[in-house]
Amino acid sequence: DGALQLNEVTFSYPNALAPALQRLSLRVEPGESVALLGPTGCGKSTLLQLLTRAWDPQHGEIRIADIALTQWSEPALRAAIGVVSQRVHLFNQTLRDNLLLAAAESSDAALIDVLKQVGLEKLLADGQGLNAWLGEGGRQLSGGELRRLAIARALLRNSSILLLDEPTEGLDAETEQQILALLARVTADKTTIMVTHRLQGIENFDRICVMERGEIVEQGKHDELMAKR
Ligand code: ADP
Ligand code: ADP
Repeated sequence: DGALQLNEVTFSYPNALAPALQRLSLRVEPGESVALLGPTGCGKSTLLQLLTRAWDPQHGEIRIADIALTQWSEPALRAAIGVVSQRVHLFNQTLRDNLLLAAAESSDAALIDVLKQVGLEKLLADGQGLNAWLGEGGRQLSGGELRRLAIARALLRNSSILLLDEPTEGLDAETEQQILALLARVTADKTTIMVTHRLQGIENFDRICVMERGEIVEQGKHDELMAKR
């Protein structure tokens, strides 16, 4: 059973007036795609951060593949979960280094394959290949290219779970469509949780969970939720 489960999870930041998450329960099946939808401050990012153990809940339990998160080793958890966040860090290093970061070794062939998957093969076109310099003194990347790079990094982890934190925030409409289409393709066989504050762009998710003030208040397919609005 590879499901991801939150059981009655409560989490409060120090000195906060109200918990960021309140007795929140959620079960995501292997391969399922779930969108967490809700206004700023409702606890979406906190939920993702609990999954990568930036914090641990004060009450309740999180389990992945029926093993409590607290029992997972840090390397095993990092291998199991890929994250694409709003802010993508580009290092003034080569394309190869930017893809690998601290991740496990991958062959150049594997890196080139991933670049093609995410539509960044043009970065190889300057004759330097994977040694092309990015960032200062080298190739700057557009917002869309940065997201593609982040998706490539997550893919290289080959994790079965992918967490997407508003991955199209700040992009123009056309680039957003491209990134959403790319994500739909690469997440097809992964357990995916995407955080967003807009209904748009999550039409094809298996399930949408609407959050308010640290709780899931409604869930269903996009059409079902739209019909009620
Ligand atoms: P969302 O991702 O939906 O915008 P967050 O999970 O970021 O919501 O925030 C949930 C609540 O926790 C908000 O009230 C927010 O102000 C608070 N919060 C978030 N991060 C911190 C933090 N590091 N310290 C204190 N409070 C925080
Ligand atoms: P990295 O690829 O080194 O994780 P990212 O920029 O993708 O760097 O990660 C964004 C944030 O999420 C960082 O704070 C990172 O530590 C954290 N993070 C990313 N993936 C995981 C994971 N699988 N487990 C724990 N934390 C993670």
